[in-house]
Amino acid sequence: MQNDIQEVLITREQIQQKVEELGQQLSKEYEGRNPLVICILKGAFIFMSDLVKEITVPIELDFMAVSSYGASTRSSGEVKIIKDLDSSVEGRDVLIVEDIIDSGLTLSYLVDVLERRKVNSVKIVTLFDKPARRTVDLQADLSGFVLPDAFVVGYGLDYAEKYRNLPYIGVLKPEIYTT
Ligand code: 5GP
Ligand code: MG
Ligand code: MG
Repeated sequence: MQNDIQEVLITREQIQQKVEELGQQLSKEYEGRNPLVICILKGAFIFMSDLVKEITVPIELDFMAVSSYGASTRSSGEVKIIKDLDSSVEGRDVLIVEDIIDSGLTLSYLVDVLERRKVNSVKIVTLFDKPARRTVDLQADLSGFVLPDAFVVGYGLDYAEKYRNLPYIGVLKPEIYTT
């Protein structure tokens, strides 16, 4: 698995440091409130589990799965809810936890869905962001690292369901896509 990586862009230690900072900011942001923290599966599962340990206000968790790229490296533009929330979001302060924002299509769709369900507020925290690739007007409220326009894997992010368990963010060797 490690042999398939061409370059490590962000190390395990850099990620850990950043996640702590994001957790501290969110703890301040949600002081005195009780947000519902929503993990967008599957990519955000590692970020979610590390992040919530750094949040000091009481929270509740929920999970949502949406269709993304399949085995491709580009968004189809179609978003489908594969697993919906268990809880009602009406009147709640909702925090969406996402791994990476690329085109922005997935999150702009989800924010619409949540707003139609009458949330009190919705904010987005993403660990990685590729702002140069946006096709819709969508910004995270908090983001960890800005990445170049490259397809990355690790720390929850996959290529064809592999590499999610790498503890760092890396770029695959080009031959991996072509074989
Ligand atoms: P968007 O809708 O913003 O284009 O991207 C939606 C999802 O596609 C992200 O949440 C993420 O799961 C996946 N994605 C976007 N860029 C990358 C990338 O560079 N690597 C991987 N593995 N997944 C990505
Ligand atoms: Mg994602
Ligand atoms: Mg994926």
